[in-house]
Amino acid sequence: APTLDLDTIRAQFPILAEPIHGKRLAYLDNAATTQKPLAVLHALDDYYRHANANVHRAVHELAARATSRYEGARDRIAAFFSTQREQIVFTRGTTESINIVARCFLLPRLSPGDEVLITGMEHHSNIVPWQLVGAKVVAAPVLDDGSLDLDAWRGLISPRTKLISVVQVSNSLGTINPIADMIAAAKAHGIPVLVDGAQAIAHSRVDLSTLGADFYCGSAHKTFGPTGCGFLWARSEHYESMIPWLGGGDMIRTVSFEHSTWNEVPYKFEAGTPDISGAIGFAASLDWIEQVGLDAIAAHEHELLEYGTAALAQIDGLRMIGTARHKAGILSFVIDQAHPHDVGAILDQDGVAVRTGHHCTMPLMHRFGVPATIRASLAVYNGRDDIDQLATALRKACRLLR
Ligand code: PMP
Repeated sequence: APTLDLDTIRAQFPILAEPIHGKRLAYLDNAATTQKPLAVLHALDDYYRHANANVHRAVHELAARATSRYEGARDRIAAFFSTQREQIVFTRGTTESINIVARCFLLPRLSPGDEVLITGMEHHSNIVPWQLVGAKVVAAPVLDDGSLDLDAWRGLISPRTKLISVVQVSNSLGTINPIADMIAAAKAHGIPVLVDGAQAIAHSRVDLSTLGADFYCGSAHKTFGPTGCGFLWARSEHYESMIPWLGGGDMIRTVSFEHSTWNEVPYKFEAGTPDISGAIGFAASLDWIEQVGLDAIAAHEHELLEYGTAALAQIDGLRMIGTARHKAGILSFVIDQAHPHDVGAILDQDGVAVRTGHHCTMPLMHRFGVPATIRASLAVYNGRDDIDQLATALRKACRLLR
């Protein structure tokens, strides 16, 4: 199996050396956002030092540099996902990408009573945008182990289903959904499919040329890139059929007071000055991932997930939520007689950064009968020492709170 050298990896993330309340930092909140390697920090610094200007507009040298770096980032992202550059639209992230599909693709096709089929483990960003445009949201049930009830999901596909939307990897439980099978089933019914890849792309290979989805989205900040940048991928025919929702500079071909015409895809969906440095940092983060190797990352995280699962099983009164067989590096749990927020505050005092709360999946929390969980989420720079620090701090929290 491919291996990686943890010391070398960690040396590239300066923030990991930051003392927290005088303790060593065990950063286990990677599903919320990841830390940034020197390669990304340098790319941002170099852009602002040597190439900063607005893109697409001027003939001067800096504008040419900014444009070539921004468009080069688009090429890089397209190559990473094995797709065409025209299919990558830069957005503020997964949330904005899903909202674009809701507003520009679904809404014009929607009749009263039409449904969007999702799952019971979706992030709020894959629930609320459909409600905002007036679709009826139908959610397939989640089984006790946190996996999707696939038979029930199939049974919910109906003539009213206008779109199917599914998270590839659950941010709350780590469940990996069988998206290839789900896309095949949707195709058999001629229903377009959106895949929310926010939690998937830093942890496993995604090939958009063969996946068969209609829409795919992700966020740079979950792949060791900057916040405020992400992408939408769509089939070209969908982009052509969609009227943009954001109007302004760069997205037009011609403008008059009577009538305007749109620029070509992807620019048609990128009104205004984009997050230029965000895109450049995003591309640098994917370069970094490629250099380490996605297979090595996946193998490392899988090993650590098993180690962490076993370590937490030793803690009295701890209940893991989400034990699906196909699972990514997320440990979500509750502890008897201890509120997750109180546990989180005690862990913080010992340098352990975890998320406590509903993780933007309130219906899923409801499904498991808990208001919140404690979530430790793994990334490539985590090691057994982080898990051990978590387990020790959890034992302390149990002593103090029970
Ligand atoms: N979907 C999933 C599964 C997520 O984990 C997140 C981020 N927590 C989002 C969507 C939203 O991503 P962003 O906040 O970057 O728009």
